[in-house]
Amino acid sequence: MWFDDDRRGDAFGFGVYQMRRPDPIPMDRGEYSVIPFHDKDRPSSDVINTCVHCGLCLSACPTYRETGLEMSSPRGRIYLMKAVDEGRIGLESAVFQEQMSQCLNCRACEAVCPSGVQYGTILEASRAQIEHARGAGTIMRPQSAALPPRPIWQRALRSVVFGALFKDMRLFRALSSSMALYQKSGVQWLARRSGALKLIGMADAEAMLPPLGGVATVPQGQIYPAEGDGRYSVAILTGCIMGTAFGPVHAATIRVLQKNGCEVILPPEQGCCGALHTHGGDLDGGRALARQNIAAFEGLGLDAIIVNAAGCGSTMKEYDHLLHDDLEWRGRAEAFVRKVKDVHEFLASIELNTAGLGRLELSVTYQEPCHLAHAQRITAQPRALLMAIPGLELREMPESSLCCGSAGVYNVIQPEMAASLGARKVSNALSTRAQVIATANPGCALQLAAELRRQGEAAQVRYIVELLDQSYAAG
Ligand code: SF4
Ligand code: SF4
Repeated sequence: MWFDDDRRGDAFGFGVYQMRRPDPIPMDRGEYSVIPFHDKDRPSSDVINTCVHCGLCLSACPTYRETGLEMSSPRGRIYLMKAVDEGRIGLESAVFQEQMSQCLNCRACEAVCPSGVQYGTILEASRAQIEHARGAGTIMRPQSAALPPRPIWQRALRSVVFGALFKDMRLFRALSSSMALYQKSGVQWLARRSGALKLIGMADAEAMLPPLGGVATVPQGQIYPAEGDGRYSVAILTGCIMGTAFGPVHAATIRVLQKNGCEVILPPEQGCCGALHTHGGDLDGGRALARQNIAAFEGLGLDAIIVNAAGCGSTMKEYDHLLHDDLEWRGRAEAFVRKVKDVHEFLASIELNTAGLGRLELSVTYQEPCHLAHAQRITAQPRALLMAIPGLELREMPESSLCCGSAGVYNVIQPEMAASLGARKVSNALSTRAQVIATANPGCALQLAAELRRQGEAAQVRYIVELLDQSYAAG
């Protein structure tokens, strides 16, 4: 490895590690050969080479700020991708694998990069390369797998979770009902008290489980009429977690849209957005879900496809990139993407019905979901909506757009970094002494609520649309 430990102080006080360029390593290594990138879903050399190594992204990167290590920074990770791209190291590199895993895919680096490096695309492609080399997608190890595969129980679990549960919402809802039974029957209490969860390394992940009602509270296939003069016809992505654990947030979103003259449709054939798949390197799994959703929403004559979960919205806005090599679906994906709107983006773009808003005497701080602030660059609209609520006091927290450490299944694969970032975020939020932490993404909501419970703090975590809904109810 070529990173040394020559720390210099920087303007932000986080430390800068000077990177020593590697000595040239010949491509021909005799008997020792490296595992190169596969041709399918190869990280773009053009994107990798757009990075000019200026380091302006370092202070925005949560993992760099936590570790102070160059290799845990965007620039360090791009160097690693470049090294594999040029054959100087291979996919077998433990450092490469660890850094592709440790990255939160929060894309804070992308938002501040003056060269416009599309970091998310090369990270997801790099993860797809690792998964491909491990022979992902099969429970039995294929002969062609270049890297040692995961243990068979992990392969089986991944096949069930990514290959079945997140692909068929009927199964997902059935699992949600089983988990509700687990919570209510006393088994959860027993599992937590007995230490069994710690034994299998699932204690942190299980602690994030939201209270489940056992049924999806927003049924698919419904059409909700606009209040007053109908101005728009919109559809909502109900999704996986949002459609089960966050049904009340969907109900609030529908009511707020109705108050703003929208007829709201919930297309029945839609599925999960595919974010977990694409972020985790299962790009084909993400593509299958993208096609399902495009087919479910197209032809409805919609003005907009509304998304109230930041991670889902950013994934759906990139379906055109995901399907750019698919000649049959590329055009349909581009038409779909043009209609996808984050709910805050949409409400701020129309004439908001402010006359119906009632007073809420609440102090609120806003934690920005990464996939809203960085991936979609939506920062002003959520704040404008909060400030439109009479009586509500918005208190800005420090580091509001620094990742909270949720990032999909990050709690499971990087529990220490996730816990550290979660504690940092909650500490920043509590420093404002606000009664409510407002957010716009299920992963962030679960992470914040779990950390508040752990610290014994009483602050509430609420979606912005829930606060708007409450204000309309008071109006
Ligand atoms: S990713 Fe962008 S900001 Fe970061 S080092 Fe490269 S060019 Fe500079
Ligand atoms: S995506 Fe986030 S964690 Fe990953 S390198 Fe960029 S800023 Fe750092």
